[in-house]
Amino acid sequence: MRTIGLLGGMSWESTAVYYRLINQAVRDRLGGLHSAEILLHSVDFERVVQLQRAGRWDAAGALLGQAAAGLAQAGAECVMICTNTMHLVADAVAALSPVPLLHIVDETGRALTRRGLRRPLLLATQYTMEQGFYRDRMRAACGIETLVPDLPDRELVHRVIFDELCRGIVRSESRDAMHAIVQRGIAAGADSVILGCTEICLLLDPDALPCPGVDSTMEHAMAAVAFALADPAAARQAA
Ligand code: GLU
Repeated sequence: MRTIGLLGGMSWESTAVYYRLINQAVRDRLGGLHSAEILLHSVDFERVVQLQRAGRWDAAGALLGQAAAGLAQAGAECVMICTNTMHLVADAVAALSPVPLLHIVDETGRALTRRGLRRPLLLATQYTMEQGFYRDRMRAACGIETLVPDLPDRELVHRVIFDELCRGIVRSESRDAMHAIVQRGIAAGADSVILGCTEICLLLDPDALPCPGVDSTMEHAMAAVAFALADPAAARQAA
């Protein structure tokens, strides 16, 4: 089994989900008391949030890139940024990492493609919905056009992520509000929803939406499992 390197803590609420999903899947695949070989570098999220707010993405990329290099030095054979938003600096992290980076957009895009979904509504932080890095990669790597909600809805999703989910707060009012945003997305032509923030799975069940849902946390975590268990297809993708 190959060792997975997690760049986590962004927030730790979702890193805990990654840890559980990866270990459960390895146990299911291998049986007995098997669990995953994982190295975790969990950062102080407040520090990252301050860099996001200041637009200091270069500094954030250097911070996570150094952490990735440290994970590789400690024995990780791949690295994963356990947040969609910080994939804004994925190229900088990959440049500093001597081992492959499993990219969350590629894994989410593959899941959409497998299910024949072509016009997903992206629910994510405003950085992810507005800055282009996510939608550009989804278009270039998978040929999929993502839709985003209108500005008031983007602000609401962003606020729910940072003020609630990243703090471990799950409110049914916010779930209802998200469902209403999904309905507006369907009316605007969406055929599916991307849970494009690694905490949204704490609030929304992708199977309980009025259209198909793809959870970025689940897809990313399962890519890690495929890599760890040396699935030849995963090894080719990550090379
Ligand atoms: N975990 C979230 C994401 O997937 C947001 C936290 C962050 O800003 O990194 O985008």
